[in-house]
Amino acid sequence: MNYRFRYAPSPTGVLHVGNARTAIFNWLLARHYSSKLILRIEDTDKERSTPESEKAIIEDLKWLGLDWDEGPDVGGDCGPYRQSQRSSLYEEHQKLLLEKKAAYECFCTPDELKKTREELLSLGKMPKYNGKCLNLSPKHIQELKDQKKPFVIRFYVKPGPPVVVDDIVRGTVKFEREVIGDFVIFRSDGGPTYQLACVVDDSLMKITHVIRGDDHLSNTPKQILMNDAFGFTSPKFGHLPMVLGADRKKLSKRHGACSVGEYKQQGYVSSAFLNFLVLLGWSCETSEEILNTERLIKEFSEDRLSSSPSIFETNKLDWMNGQYIRQLSLEEFYRLERPFLEKDLALSQVDESWLKQVLKVLQTSVAKLTDVTDQLQIFLKDKFLIEDDVIKETAKDLDFKKVLIALSKILEDNPDIDFDDLKKQLQNETSLKGKKLFHPLRYAMTGRKNGPELALVMPLLPKNELKLRVDKLLKETS
Ligand code: GLU
Repeated sequence: MNYRFRYAPSPTGVLHVGNARTAIFNWLLARHYSSKLILRIEDTDKERSTPESEKAIIEDLKWLGLDWDEGPDVGGDCGPYRQSQRSSLYEEHQKLLLEKKAAYECFCTPDELKKTREELLSLGKMPKYNGKCLNLSPKHIQELKDQKKPFVIRFYVKPGPPVVVDDIVRGTVKFEREVIGDFVIFRSDGGPTYQLACVVDDSLMKITHVIRGDDHLSNTPKQILMNDAFGFTSPKFGHLPMVLGADRKKLSKRHGACSVGEYKQQGYVSSAFLNFLVLLGWSCETSEEILNTERLIKEFSEDRLSSSPSIFETNKLDWMNGQYIRQLSLEEFYRLERPFLEKDLALSQVDESWLKQVLKVLQTSVAKLTDVTDQLQIFLKDKFLIEDDVIKETAKDLDFKKVLIALSKILEDNPDIDFDDLKKQLQNETSLKGKKLFHPLRYAMTGRKNGPELALVMPLLPKNELKLRVDKLLKETS
């Protein structure tokens, strides 16, 4: 199919989870339909846009596994792909609209605009521009320009029937022209606004589908009117509902992490994170949830996009991430873990094959890559710690003490005993079983109440370490 989708971030900050989802949906549609994805950088806001932000957004998109067919870093026939490099195109188009009388110069000062706005609001009316400059004569306009009066260019929303948006996600949405109001397309500093730049670029870049967050829905009738005025065919629009936090409010900083970079740092696997984000607003026909990228590309289509907001559930993300971790090969798991481990450990001093065996054990239980650094403490002599709860519980249970004393003795007599024999002897000598036996054994071996299987942990502990740990717990609870 010859569709052309686009993702058009403003480089004014980090890549927010909601925007990442928009990027992913466009990418999946482009790949599903063997079509094109265009990355366009919308940096018309000179004050807030930074090259650092652009770089970070691109890095996060790549981390998610996305790629694009045209964009500032890969080129293409419709470039440049940064709006700051397309000024002359916007000027040409602004002139076209002025010539067609579809736009006009407005000399109203910010104070005047504020006053009319307040007046309208006090009358309970929609605040919109009152059209004062719509019919200025060319002579008057020239005079004001000669006086160097600052002005903006407004698009003229002519009276007419409602503007109809045939939205891929939401169905038909109608907008009355009266409520739209003549909006600014060129600022007094001579730069285009988002509305103009977006319409010109979507047309010149031959975009066929605009899929974006529904915070842009109110821009759509304006963009359709501009397309009509230029004589451009409007692309198809689809507006994705918001991503909400667990409290059903728009996902934001208040909910903790909300940018892709933060999730990366917290130890989520990119393919798991992508899978999780896709399910925020789309579902597979078979209701399956774990879908690798290949499957997602195959199954994804606009028909199953949801029109109601979705909720970002961190528990579900953790569960899904754990599932992805279990599916990794040990080598891949090790590769992904390295940067996290390096923060805490001098990896060059750790035996690699031992470390891989430990990782193999932890891979069966951790939810996030960062959980490994914590759980690794169980296996390291100098990082071993006993949790307070473990001490409290052991101190008040005589059976636990009995197990520990027997354990210490068994290890003293036979320092090389294996886990199965240890278990048997301990059972024989204490006549205890189940929790009474395994809890103190776990507490002594790991210092924690929960963790990986003991049979797997024991062979990976340094020699004589278990005996030292048993004695330490006995000492701290006596
Ligand atoms: N630059 C806009 C944003 O980051 C996107 C606008 C659009 O998709 O039309 O929200």
